[in-house]
Amino acid sequence: MRSSAATESTSDVALGEEAREVRRFWGRLGLPGLVDVHTHFMPERVLHKVWDYFDAHGPLIGGLEWPITYRKMEAERAELLREFGVQAFTAMLYPHKPGMAQWLNGWAADFARRTPDCLHTATFYPEPDVETYVREAVEAGARVFKAHVQVGAYDPADELLQQTWGMLAEARIPVVMHCGSGPAPGKHTGPEPIARVLARHPKLRLIVAHMGMPEYEEFFDLAERYDQVRLDTTMAFTDFIEEFMPFPRRALPRLAALGDRILLGSDFPNIPYPYVHQLHALERMGLGQEWLKAVCHDNAANLFGL
Ligand SMILES: [Zn+2]
Repeated sequence: MRSSAATESTSDVALGEEAREVRRFWGRLGLPGLVDVHTHFMPERVLHKVWDYFDAHGPLIGGLEWPITYRKMEAERAELLREFGVQAFTAMLYPHKPGMAQWLNGWAADFARRTPDCLHTATFYPEPDVETYVREAVEAGARVFKAHVQVGAYDPADELLQQTWGMLAEARIPVVMHCGSGPAPGKHTGPEPIARVLARHPKLRLIVAHMGMPEYEEFFDLAERYDQVRLDTTMAFTDFIEEFMPFPRRALPRLAALGDRILLGSDFPNIPYPYVHQLHALERMGLGQEWLKAVCHDNAANLFGL
């Protein structure tokens, strides 16, 4: 039995033990490793600002106590994911204002070049040149996009984004989007704004971050309606989240039925508990080995052709 995930030591020795624990988890399932669609890599300066924000218990994180477990240098963080046996991961990065996305995309393209196990990630913001730089990112090989409606504080159905959604739907490139109202709501969070996008772009490969928490069931409605909508598990079902945004037990059969559209995401490195806790949190949902295998590896491997 684990005692308290949140208080586990993260000294180098403990990390070695954790890597072994993570590897035992996927080894038991007979998987070749994990695919994690929701990990954060971004320019160090930006990441440190994000960490400062978490340290200051800012309103976007609901004013919560949120100690970052993996506050390490970039190379160490990537190496740690490899030690865990994460075969492919992403570089979720996102702008909070205009004029920033293109610069982030340049950084992310370079990061993907020097990090072959990272799926080349890009982002965007509703602004006049968005279509141009998103097209450039697609041509440069971007395989997944990240959009953050809460931090960006924009309406995803903004007219400025319509061509971009159309292009990404056509190119069948997934977009991981933080569109749920957790940990704190924003003006354009919740299922309604993104439902308007899906009504116009029903084939969009939307990956709803964090299982859409706390609107789990409303986002399940969208996934059941649109066959290209998926959800990532990021932070869902963990002790930390269950305390204030619990997953409703009555929705378990729907979680089981959507098993081919749920993708492992972790939010590494910005998590207030060890990585392995996310895996154990998935396992204790009790949906069985086949569900776990699909979620932790096969669904993403299929989606990205790994
Ligand atoms: Zn995240």
